[in-house]
Amino acid sequence: MHIACLDLEGVLVPEVWINVAERTGIDELKLTTRDISDYNELMDHRLAVMAKHGLTLSAIKKVIADMGPLPGAKEFLDWLRARWQVVILSDTFYDFADPLMDQLGRPTLFCHSLVVRDDMVVGYQLRQPNGKYEAVRAFQSLNFTTLSTGDSYNDTAMLNQADYGALFNPPANVIAEFPHLPVAHDYEELKEQFLAASEQLESGLQA
Ligand SMILES: [Mg+2]
Repeated sequence: MHIACLDLEGVLVPEVWINVAERTGIDELKLTTRDISDYNELMDHRLAVMAKHGLTLSAIKKVIADMGPLPGAKEFLDWLRARWQVVILSDTFYDFADPLMDQLGRPTLFCHSLVVRDDMVVGYQLRQPNGKYEAVRAFQSLNFTTLSTGDSYNDTAMLNQADYGALFNPPANVIAEFPHLPVAHDYEELKEQFLAASEQLESGLQA
């Protein structure tokens, strides 16, 4: 029995912070895990910038609601969910992801929580360190095999641990640093890779 473990931003939806930066005109919010690989360092930077510009949670949620999933994401997710169990493992926050989950048909999402005071984001709570990797390991301990994909640095521990892990449309620096990981450039390639991996994993189990 397989579980597909998917990253959210860069795989099913656009990069949230880049969109917020573009629509609010606050360029300092454009940095992502593609630029700063230390997640806590990146979040501290974002909190300071939001406070400096008085950017409210309501304003951010409105931008995210208008943004929508990537073209073909909902269809890809439906295709996956018809075949295997699917869980989205993300370093985003429930408050931010909510409008997008609605548009994707409410898939299961494991992510983090924001600390909000007077409509301002004043902190965040990581559910656990290395949440993506720990989730894959936990599923394996429940005798699931894991098919996984993600686009960036914060996915590589999960992809390395998964029974099959592929980078999805990653930037060149991530490909260069993790040359052993297969790469899928679009949903069709990823479907083919997951189907092939599934067959291989099942024949391995029967052997
Ligand atoms: Mg991502």
